[in-house]
Amino acid sequence: MPMAGSRFTKNDLAKYPFLKETTDYVKKLDLRIDDLLDPSFANIIERAQERVEDSILYALVSRTQQNDEVEILSFPIAVILAIATKSSFIKKRYALAEAKQVYEDLKLESEERLKTIAQTFDWKLVTNDSSQGPQRFSLGFIDYVRNTTHLRDKRWKLVNRLLANGNVSLNKGEIARLLSEEVRKYIEKRLEAGDLPTFPAKIAEIAEKLKSLSVEKIGEIDAEEFHGAVKQEVFPPCIQTLFQSFSSGHHLSHIGRFTLTSFLVGIGMPSETVVELFKSFSDYSERMTRYQVEHIAGERGSRTRYIPPKCDTLKTHGVCLNPDRTCQRIRHPLAYYRSLYKA
Ligand code: SF4
Repeated sequence: MPMAGSRFTKNDLAKYPFLKETTDYVKKLDLRIDDLLDPSFANIIERAQERVEDSILYALVSRTQQNDEVEILSFPIAVILAIATKSSFIKKRYALAEAKQVYEDLKLESEERLKTIAQTFDWKLVTNDSSQGPQRFSLGFIDYVRNTTHLRDKRWKLVNRLLANGNVSLNKGEIARLLSEEVRKYIEKRLEAGDLPTFPAKIAEIAEKLKSLSVEKIGEIDAEEFHGAVKQEVFPPCIQTLFQSFSSGHHLSHIGRFTLTSFLVGIGMPSETVVELFKSFSDYSERMTRYQVEHIAGERGSRTRYIPPKCDTLKTHGVCLNPDRTCQRIRHPLAYYRSLYKA
């Protein structure tokens, strides 16, 4: 049943943190960042941490919670946690994961409910009641273009759409997908903090755990953490071996070369510097070297920045050589570098 004076139920507010009704609900509670330290907030903080962890591990925020109040309040706290990590990777991933889950929920909504939710973003959206086909929704051209800019699939190209009187015809699933784009942008905007406050120790501690998780599980590291200074003395043994072998003119296997390149790019070495370095060590053609390095750095093709394989994979391929004591507590070469870099 809708809440008093609202078009939405409390469960809607829990599923859709971007609704104006949800932010109003949270605002009324007038919570301060220090309130979060109260033990009565423990389960909310735990759920907020889980939201960000899920996003790092699975790029999706699970819907395990049955308690709407906890779900509603954990969203703004998860945003604070993601901001506190200062990691652009975690922030982007978190926004994407929440948006993906919202997409799953929106697909199950009625047409009427989708139209109501679309009002949050001031969409010009109507349904064509005379249409029998699936493309029953008409969305304003501007709203359509604004939300398809980043979508690569050909079906979103305007030439592949039915356009009439400044409106684009879409089906229900497509409306849910484009709304989830709005949600991703909405969350990314919330994550753009200007001057950061000093976070309570507990928040800073969780943020640090989340950063470690992203490095250890995903191998994703924020190169900004290293201020651009490369410390060769804290390279993990596998990378030291690859580096020395390559600099002595030895041929590297495909995985060895990939691991070394993605590691150097991952710790913030500009791709131009990596190309120059490789040129000085080998007689590979500059054109091919540049192509491979820029591809791995995400500056070409799919624009995906590749990361080195995990230790388990490197062990399988015989690239894990001379592991030391630090290796016993990490699962990724970038985690090794990060832990000693910061020590
Ligand atoms: S355990 Fe990991 S970091 Fe250490 S040498 Fe092996 S692959 Fe490299």
